[in-house]
Amino acid sequence: MSRSDNLESKLSECKSITCIMDILFEENLINAEQSKLLYSKPRRIGCVQLGKVEGMLFGVPIGDTLGSPFEGKPPSEGNFRVINDYLPEAHITDDTQLTFWTLEVFLEMGWFDPKVLADRFSSEWIIGIGSSIRRFIRNYKDLGKPWYLSGVESAGNGALMRLSPVVIPHLINPTRELWSDAVVTTYLTHNDRLAISFAVAFANILWELLRKDEPPEPEWWIREYVNVAREVEGDFTQYSPRFGKFKSYSGPAWEFVEKILERALSNEWSPLDLNTAVGSGAYLLETVPMALYTMMLYADDPTKAITTAVSSSKDSDTVGAIVGYLIGALHGVKAFPEHLLGPVLNGGLMPLTFLEVVNNVETFLVNQAKGNVVKVVSGGESCEHG
Ligand SMILES: [Mg+2]
Repeated sequence: MSRSDNLESKLSECKSITCIMDILFEENLINAEQSKLLYSKPRRIGCVQLGKVEGMLFGVPIGDTLGSPFEGKPPSEGNFRVINDYLPEAHITDDTQLTFWTLEVFLEMGWFDPKVLADRFSSEWIIGIGSSIRRFIRNYKDLGKPWYLSGVESAGNGALMRLSPVVIPHLINPTRELWSDAVVTTYLTHNDRLAISFAVAFANILWELLRKDEPPEPEWWIREYVNVAREVEGDFTQYSPRFGKFKSYSGPAWEFVEKILERALSNEWSPLDLNTAVGSGAYLLETVPMALYTMMLYADDPTKAITTAVSSSKDSDTVGAIVGYLIGALHGVKAFPEHLLGPVLNGGLMPLTFLEVVNNVETFLVNQAKGNVVKVVSGGESCEHG
């Protein structure tokens, strides 16, 4: 048996993502540090509010659609726009499709089976597809490479935009598999140290937001992000911004994000100032500072956060989708104004099958919680009274 046949058969015997991640690390295939954080258990969530899960999931189509007419069009001082409502031509794009397809696979298989995810991602037309996902599909579908060798070394946004589903399987019974899900679902399409470390950092942020009742302080976002991203990226990488005032920087991405966000906060930059300084195109080193800074400024004001995310950024649908899932996880679905949430709930924006996915996710959580100490409360209920 050749080495690749052997690897193929070892992976095909895995029935969990953790098993797959361990083998991929053993084979030196994953571009990331095998940090001990990936083997730690996330903190327990005593009471799971379905309203927060709905907020996290519906935040994606809201931000995605709001931003879709402006994707790739950078805002500028002379061309500032305030986007408060869906334009007639607005629609969902890849951010929403990939998020809900990921959940469909989870509901069907009981886990994020990467081979099935690869099939799902390459089976249907993707709206506004990014270049890395396109290359992944070419590798997997056209060139017939195995799923575990089809991901490209890219720090594009295509994995972070569809990250939110990874927390769902773990809400009732948290295990280290949360981190494996973030690593492997990212590795599948974006086998890149920056993409994988950012995914784990955002999985942690989402997890903490689902536990919180109050918006955290601005500094919290920097600290929480750096603590995790650094572990998985390591200290010896050499990333440089591709645009803006700080092009001479070369070093770890987590350190760049930390410095930029500290500077933005202490100098009271507007999101537009941040866009001018580092850009906000389809590259994680631009998207992530923009998404985090928007949350640092407006975590207590969901409408302001999501409209600012799309108004002030170039990859506006994706920054919108990311801020959408963060703000939704923090405040729950009730936080979104009717004019933005209504068209999602009545099927005007998303296929009805995606709405069914949300219902099925809730049924999954309620069933999983039966006989468990973790309480699950529905949309309008709070944990104290539920
Ligand atoms: Mg998009």
